[in-house]
Amino acid sequence: MDITARLMKAGFFRVLAVDAAQASDAFTHGTLLIALWRYDAEITPTHGEGWIHPYYFASQRAYEAAAGVVQKVEEDGRVIRLRDDVRLKPIFARLPDFCQGRNTLSYVEGAGSRFHAQTLWLAETLDDLTPLLDRPQERRCGSCRRCMEACPTGAIQEDGFHRERCLRNWMMSGQLAPDFIREKMGVRLIGCDDCQRCCPLNAPVKEIVHERIPLAELLERPKETAMALRPLIGVNLTLPNRILSQACVMAGSTSREDLLPQLERLSDHPSPNVRAYSAWAVGSVASKAK
Ligand code: SF4
Ligand code: SF4
Repeated sequence: MDITARLMKAGFFRVLAVDAAQASDAFTHGTLLIALWRYDAEITPTHGEGWIHPYYFASQRAYEAAAGVVQKVEEDGRVIRLRDDVRLKPIFARLPDFCQGRNTLSYVEGAGSRFHAQTLWLAETLDDLTPLLDRPQERRCGSCRRCMEACPTGAIQEDGFHRERCLRNWMMSGQLAPDFIREKMGVRLIGCDDCQRCCPLNAPVKEIVHERIPLAELLERPKETAMALRPLIGVNLTLPNRILSQACVMAGSTSREDLLPQLERLSDHPSPNVRAYSAWAVGSVASKAK
C-alpha cells in the first residue's frame, strides 16, 4: 500500500505531497507529506466546568495515527520521519485551495479551519507532487471583520495579529498572564474558538462533544487529572502545575464560592504561578459573588 493510502486509512482526510526543498529551506531533497486530520467543532461553554478545544484531541489522535504509519513504512525499509519543526502556514499559502484568514488561521476546502496537520518527510521524491505557487495567495476575507469583533481581547486588528493579546498564547505557557487576559479566559482549560466559530468560511457549530473537566477535580487532584488527560491531548499540555495554574484562572472566572477553600489552600503551593493565580482567583471569585 502506498504511503498516502496508509495515511488515509489511518484517519486523515487528505494528504498533500510536495517537493520538500521547494517547500522549506530546511530540506535539500525528498518529499513532504502533509496529512490533514479534520475535527468536529464544538460550542464553547461560557460557564460550568472546564473545556478543552476539540483541536487538541484531534492533534493527539493525528499524531498517533501518523506515528503508526511511519513505523510501518520504516519496516518496509524506507526513510521517513515525523517532523514538527516545519512551518506549515507559508506552505499552505502557496497551495491553490487553501487560504489564510485575518485571524491568521489556514483554511482548506472541505474543512475550513477545522483541521490539524501532521508533517512527514520522506527521503525519496515521489511522482505526482502537488505544485506550489510561486508566491503566497491573497487573503479571501474581503470586507469581513467578524473575527476582529469576536476576539475577546482584541488580538486581531487592522494592522495584524497581536500574539501577546491572544488567550491561547498564555494558556499552559508557564508565564503569568496579565489581568486583562485572565479576566477573559472563562472556563477554557486549553484553546479558544471565538475567532473560528464566527467565521463564515467555517460550517456552523452544533454541540459540545467532549466531556467537561470538573474544576473542583482540577484544583484538588491536578496530577491525577493531568495523567488522565495525557493520552488524549499529549504530554506538553498536561504538565500538572500548568494545569493547576489554568484551573485557578478558570475558577477565577466564575462566582463559585464553593471553590474558595481549595483556592485558599493553594496560597503556599511550591509553584509561584499557582500561588499568584490562586490569590488572584480568590479575589476575583469573591468580587463576583458579592
Ligand atoms: S471571520 Fe471573516 S475576517 Fe475573520 S478569518 Fe473569517 S472570513 Fe476572514
Ligand atoms: S484564539 Fe481567541 S483570543 Fe486568540 S485571536 Fe482567536 S478569538 Fe482572540
